[in-house]
Amino acid sequence: MHTCRICKKPISGRSDKQYCSAKCRSYYHNTLKKVTLNATAAVDAILHRNRSILLEVMGKNAHQKTIPQSVLEKKKFSFNYCTGIYENAKGKRYYNVYDFAYMKFSDGRLLIIRRQA
Ligand SMILES: [Zn+2]
Repeated sequence: MHTCRICKKPISGRSDKQYCSAKCRSYYHNTLKKVTLNATAAVDAILHRNRSILLEVMGKNAHQKTIPQSVLEKKKFSFNYCTGIYENAKGKRYYNVYDFAYMKFSDGRLLIIRRQA
């Protein structure tokens, strides 16, 4: 037995049914989805713009590039937003932006890398 995504009532019948009723289904589609989109659109746009800027700098094929941080600043890159952070074995911190990542050198330059798919 599984339960409705909205009201948590048990659902009988097909196991791929996610809602107990048309009312719960439309509640999800009309309300929750819209609220979620409204809440996430601004950050999504910043992250997408950040990735576009990195793609512009890296071009189609480069695997890595070192550039002055000011290049990204001039393009209005938002350093406060990334999709993940990881530290390598040497303690260098990389900021992921989808399939790209960058690392800051102490001298104001950045290493940008393209992640393997
Ligand atoms: Zn329901």
